[in-house]
Amino acid sequence: MARQFFVGGNFKMNPASRKDKVALVKLLNEAELDPNTEVVISPPALYLIPVKGSIRKDIKVAAQNCYFKDSGAFTGEISPAQLVDSEIPYVILGHSERRTLFHESSEVVAQKTRAALDKGLNIILCIGETLNEREAGETAKVCEEQLKAVVDVLKESDWSKIVVAYEPVWAIGTGKVATPQQAQEAHKDIRSYLSKAVSSGVAESTRIIYGGSVNAGNCKELSTLPDVDGFLVGDGSNHDLRDLVVVGC
Ligand code: PGA
Repeated sequence: MARQFFVGGNFKMNPASRKDKVALVKLLNEAELDPNTEVVISPPALYLIPVKGSIRKDIKVAAQNCYFKDSGAFTGEISPAQLVDSEIPYVILGHSERRTLFHESSEVVAQKTRAALDKGLNIILCIGETLNEREAGETAKVCEEQLKAVVDVLKESDWSKIVVAYEPVWAIGTGKVATPQQAQEAHKDIRSYLSKAVSSGVAESTRIIYGGSVNAGNCKELSTLPDVDGFLVGDGSNHDLRDLVVVGC
């Protein structure tokens, strides 16, 4: 079965104003989308509900993070149950900014993934190596370690709700996109790991998308690679997302 192409827009802590948010939604609402591409946008938590209410129905909305408890004294956190109650279908987990700036271990990411799945959310699960790790030849090992924590707490059937985002840390927000060869090699290794650790069926059907300095200029070539099933776009979401979506990259 062919894997549906996926384009995600991770707005991070942008846009800085409600006015800019409204402009972005308008731009996407007026765009001619590729019907074969699943499009998911991830605004800051504060804007999830208004964006969900104003964006066209063929674009889905994702939270950028959630906690693993249902409710309680966890100041500043949002629960999977609250996202589901607000009809938000997706959540990004394990983004490298969460792992590094907010010290989330792979085990915490796995706990969050389990909790989000238990409530019925779809997950964009981010993994990726640092520059030092790549230079030490540890890219596949790091990706496997980050994935293993999640593999250990998932059932085979859970994988239908997971999109794996390979995002090399050295490419995020740096303007230094992975070469097609680097991206294909990493994605192929991730797929082989899934085949070994879960099943060949899961490896074949799980979408593995690339993130890290993707823009309208470089997405075309990357989109033709056999193991690249789409993109998670950060900075480019603010100016290039419409083009990425429209060209069906
Ligand atoms: P970038 O970010 O496109 O700005 O490199 C990607 C991401 O962090 O998801």
